[in-house]
Amino acid sequence: MIRQIQEDTYRHKGLRRKLIEEIRKKGITDEKVLAAIEAIPRHYFLDPAFDKIAYEDRAFPIGSGQTISQPYTVAYQTELLQVKRLDKVLEIGTGSVYQSSVLAEMGAQVYTIERQKQLYDKNLKEYPFKSKYKKIKFFYGDGYEGLPTFAPFDKILITAAAPFIPDALVDQLKPNGILVLPLGNDEVQTMTRITKLPNGELQTETFSDFIFVPMLSGKAK
Ligand code: SAH
Repeated sequence: MIRQIQEDTYRHKGLRRKLIEEIRKKGITDEKVLAAIEAIPRHYFLDPAFDKIAYEDRAFPIGSGQTISQPYTVAYQTELLQVKRLDKVLEIGTGSVYQSSVLAEMGAQVYTIERQKQLYDKNLKEYPFKSKYKKIKFFYGDGYEGLPTFAPFDKILITAAAPFIPDALVDQLKPNGILVLPLGNDEVQTMTRITKLPNGELQTETFSDFIFVPMLSGKAK
């Protein structure tokens, strides 16, 4: 899948405005999240064959058996993360870099880890916003380990289905830091928000159910 030079036409922008209205109706209220999704041309992250359907509120394949999340899901997770300008955010599961771009558009300093070498290599080579979002740093590794060298983080976002809360990630959160993850088995996961209180205690809140591709351990070649 080769990313060709694509244009952001009036048609694309119009479809994005419609998409925003659709996810607003589904319950997303954070205007900063909606503005970021409206600003990012999602079709740049997909094979040109998907151009006509890039703004449907659906997940699509991105190669290596992985998917770009549904815009509503991206908005939902981003809203729960309460992203502020200059927040240091660790994302697990770079995938297409769409979610990272939404975070960067909101002013976050993004560190993102991908375990699939092919996706990581492709992102380094072909990421369409290299010059705009210099703050996104790409890593090839196992998200279960996080990035101890760059810790602590204000926020951590897992974009694959986690069977449990990874201890290493909780350790890498700042006091008052927030971890958002889809927690559950292969079939269904419950969106969960963990807040690390200043005394180290964890506060857990649960939200709607979602279906993500699994968070797998170890790196893949
Ligand atoms: N955030 C992505 C969607 C991710 S799909 C986007 O916006 O497009 C989930 C991604 O998590 C896949 O690319 C998968 O390879 C990756 N992944 C799964 N387990 C992982 C792990 N342990 N560490 C890092 N990445 C992982």
